[in-house]
This record gives sequence, C-alpha cells and structure tokens, in this order.
Amino acid sequence: MKALVLKAKEQLTYITDYPEPTSLKDREVLIRVKYCGICGSDLEAYQYGKVLMPIILGHEFAGDIVELGPGVEGWAIGDRVTAYPGQFCGKCFYCQQGQENLCKNIINGLGITINGALAEYVKIPANYICKLPKELSYQEGAIVEPLSVGYHGVNLSGIQPADTAVVLGAGTIGLSTIQALKLRGIKEIYVIEPNAFNRNIALQLGAKETIRLNRLNKIGPDFVFDCAGFPTTYKKDINIVRNGGTVVLLGIHFELTPISFLQLITKEVNLKGSFGYTFQEFKTIIRLLLQGKIHPKSMITKIVPLSNIIKEGFQALLHPDRQAVKILAKI
Ligand SMILES: [Zn+2]
Ligand SMILES: [Zn+2]
Repeated sequence: MKALVLKAKEQLTYITDYPEPTSLKDREVLIRVKYCGICGSDLEAYQYGKVLMPIILGHEFAGDIVELGPGVEGWAIGDRVTAYPGQFCGKCFYCQQGQENLCKNIINGLGITINGALAEYVKIPANYICKLPKELSYQEGAIVEPLSVGYHGVNLSGIQPADTAVVLGAGTIGLSTIQALKLRGIKEIYVIEPNAFNRNIALQLGAKETIRLNRLNKIGPDFVFDCAGFPTTYKKDINIVRNGGTVVLLGIHFELTPISFLQLITKEVNLKGSFGYTFQEFKTIIRLLLQGKIHPKSMITKIVPLSNIIKEGFQALLHPDRQAVKILAKI
C-alpha cells in the first residue's frame, strides 16, 4: 500500500509497496483512509524524531471500514468513520471520569507509537472509532481532531460571554479555539499572529486585531489562549493577561522555559495547561459540524495527493512564509 513512513529524524519517505496491515486482532477494524491531515505534532516528529521509528505518521483522518476483526459488534463494512487517536486504558481514575486525555496508562498513540493514517489503510480497535454522518465529508471528518483541541481548551477555561480573550497564534489550534470561543458566546476575541495569511483567516472567523483591545481596555484581557507554544509566547501570555486573569496553554513546547513566578504571584495569574481533548468532546465536535455550528472549510487551505505530501505538505508548512493552515493528504 501507499504510505508515508518516517524512518529517522528528517527521513520521511513515500512508499508504494508498504505491507498492508493484516490479521486483525480481537475487536480491531481495518479502515481505508480517504483524507489525513498534517498536524503540528507530525511536523515535530519529522524535524526532531521523538516518535517510535520507523512509523507511518498521521492521526487526523477519515475513511471507510473495509474489514472487521473477530468480535467487532455494532460496525459494518462500508461504515464511514473517524477515530480518537490516543488509545486509553478505559479503567484508570481519569478514564472512569471521562478524562481520557489524562489516562495514566495510555496504550498507544496513532502515528507516535503505532502506525498512523498517512497511508491507504490503518487498523484501529473499534472502541476508538466514531461514525461520520453521511452529511459530513471525509475532509470534515479529518479535521474533527484539531477542532477538538481548541474546544477542550475553551471548555477548561471557564470563560464567560462578557470576558475578553486574546488568542495567541492562529494556526489550526488557534483557529479552532476562536471558533470554540464564538460558540460559547464570547464577543471580544482578539488575535496575535505574525503570519498575515493565518491572521486574515482568524479575522474572517470573527477575531479582531489586538490594537483594538488596547484602545478598549487598558488593563489587559481576562483570558489568554496560547496556541503557539514558544518560550517567548509563554512570557508574553503572562505579560499581557490582566491581573487575576487566566492563561490557558494549548501550544506545546519541549524545552524548559524560564518564566517569572514572582510575576505570576503578584499578578495572581491562573495558569492552566490544556492537553488534547476527551472522547466526549471529540464526539461533540462531530455533532457541532453536523449542526453547522463550526466552519472548518476556511481552515483546510490545501489538499495534496499523498505522493506529493512531503514537498507540498510538510515542507510547505515548515516554510517561514507559509501560506497554509491545515493541509490534508488525499489518499
Ligand atoms: Zn493533531
Ligand atoms: Zn486510563
């Protein structure tokens, strides 16, 4: 089958004769992938390794079930599906509370520890798959995952409609955060994003330029959502949030970052980490897409055949003047 394999850091290869997944285990299904997005974490894996290699990357996808393993119930060949990509234990304290993103015994991560979906076929235990209603396209199915990330951050934050929010970074996660904030009724949403292409999409989705916030409000925003995740933005978050305000960190950075705890204390800043999303939130995004309450089209800026995805996908996204947000591979 066709597959995009990361053999080692920076060694990404498009292969046309990769062996198809065979002999499905108990309760696994085989999915013929139609579209799979490139995530920031796929770019990180490409640049720095830090996944179990060799591996097929990709975890934001949709496709059709083409084979059922032993014991699979409630699913049929031909069902259109997407899947929750983190494989959680279902038994620990967190899983029992519906906080699968915090599972203590994460079993596998698609495209991190087991083969992902930038390939013709992917096999997955049936308990992680979700039905894609016929009204939704496979492309919309492939963007459920990144939309869930912003939705989770906003749910955690406790923000109320009268509050002001700054979203720092307007990549896929920033744009999904803006949509989740709008959905929650927040009217004053401001964006900080140096890339004009991305910033314009944020403005189209209803965010405003921060200069207007400065005129409106001299004390700073009630909430800052960091969707960039650089040491410099972490510092900026704490600088710009108002005293007693909340900073939600959605952007991930691997290095240790010096920040001033004195500033955190004296400003009484609430600092919240936000990691992934729950299985329920993932399912809710499918429902919100179905209800037309989220608009993913402006975020999907390019569709590229899998054979060209290294150059037109990975390298295009890593280019400093990139003109792309979410790039999907058509498989
Ligand atoms: Zn992702
Ligand atoms: Zn668990």
